[in-house]
Amino acid sequence: MPASPQASTPSALGRGDAERGSKRASIVADRIIDDVIHAGWPVGEVLGSEADLLERYRVSRAVFREAVRLVEHQQVARTRRGPGGGLVVAAPTVEAVIDAVVLYLHRVDATLDEVFEARVVLEEIVTELVPGRLDEDDLLRLRTLSDEEKSPDPTDPRAMHAALATMSKNAALELFVEVLNRVAMLYSRDWRSLRTTSVAGEKVRAHIRIIDAVLAGDSGLARGRMRKHLEAEADFLRRRRSTRQLLPDAVILGDGNGGKRAEAVARSIAQQVVADNAEPGELVGAEADLMAQQGVSRAVLREAVRILEHHQVAVMKRGPGGGLFVAAPSAAAVTDTVATYLAYRGMKLSDIMELRIGVEIALVDLAVDRIDEGGAARLRAALEREAEVTDVERAEAVHDLHAAIADLAGNRVLALVALVMIRLSRLYQIEKLAAKQREQINEEVLRTHEKIARAVASGDKELARHRMRRHLEALAAFVR
Ligand SMILES: [Zn+2]
Ligand SMILES: [Zn+2]
Repeated sequence: MPASPQASTPSALGRGDAERGSKRASIVADRIIDDVIHAGWPVGEVLGSEADLLERYRVSRAVFREAVRLVEHQQVARTRRGPGGGLVVAAPTVEAVIDAVVLYLHRVDATLDEVFEARVVLEEIVTELVPGRLDEDDLLRLRTLSDEEKSPDPTDPRAMHAALATMSKNAALELFVEVLNRVAMLYSRDWRSLRTTSVAGEKVRAHIRIIDAVLAGDSGLARGRMRKHLEAEADFLRRRRSTRQLLPDAVILGDGNGGKRAEAVARSIAQQVVADNAEPGELVGAEADLMAQQGVSRAVLREAVRILEHHQVAVMKRGPGGGLFVAAPSAAAVTDTVATYLAYRGMKLSDIMELRIGVEIALVDLAVDRIDEGGAARLRAALEREAEVTDVERAEAVHDLHAAIADLAGNRVLALVALVMIRLSRLYQIEKLAAKQREQINEEVLRTHEKIARAVASGDKELARHRMRRHLEALAAFVR
């Protein structure tokens, strides 16, 4: 599926943060990705031969080949050998996003409760939107799904959830519903064996009732039924096993079917970091030790290190006392992967803002419920920073309050979705505003942020969510 024409793309997907380092191969990989996006993501087209591309990006063959491994890892392009070969544009799969999300959630120790709380929020947004957006094909599809649920053959429990998400016509929402659906499945890999239990019967009844409510055009009813259904599922899983997230080996950094040596090494090192519960800053190993341990050349190890750095699992420090060190888990790695995938799928700015509004309002609700002394101090600190920053720093500082509220909500899964959406909305628009316009809104934004923070701190949920909604709707209208 090519990127749709309305998909605007930032010139660089916000990569190259200081934490990422100025590694040549990563920079070239980012340039290749930008070029693919700007060409309209022509799957199957040859970007150029190796000789062409060495000339275009003006780098050494060694750096270029490392960059190619990175774009192959991100499924943006792959190398085709032989005559007429070169770097060929590929079609990214949702698996790359799932990998990045699962790895991040595992590293921050997200629980089953957080995953399901986030699913409820996202799928409530879906059921709220879908009745108003159904077309005739959707209607027929829902009738078929309802019949399939009634049939004695087990249906994939994700099918109804995925179909409804698609009918929201919001690419960002669809993506996160799919990802969290898959993450939730990691807790119940044996769903096929459950089909004879009472749970399966409940699932069928719940799915049919949700479909009925959507077909009846009753958003409120559909939403309530979706919440009940997901909460029942979470209850069931909670009774069955620990709430600690499972991490099947295959999920970390791809399933290894490609058989690429560097990916296998990266996977093995990531598993080691995760299994040891290693703290950021801890030494994973010196380069020579890791080469010996993994039985690979320096070149292969360095490729593996790029992949680990890309996912912010570990970072290589050169020089005396150097080596591979555990990195702090960061939502930025997930943002890049999501941004790349959504660029391929053809995302609209309105999709981002719609999801952002829904998720941030849910976060405000949770923040009001869960705020404590430390949380109130965090809100104040964010506002103080925003009031004091220079114009250069403001682009970042203006999101501090949103990040603080996401943090207070105490759900790392929802916070991740919000951070990704905040970052995407920033990448796609704020840079485009003229300096003068920016000055005019700065004052107003700060005042609005203060009002939102006051409502959250005083425990007035209705006022807090009202102010957040108005603020984000104004932002959405401003950038449209
Ligand atoms: Zn279900
Ligand atoms: Zn704001």
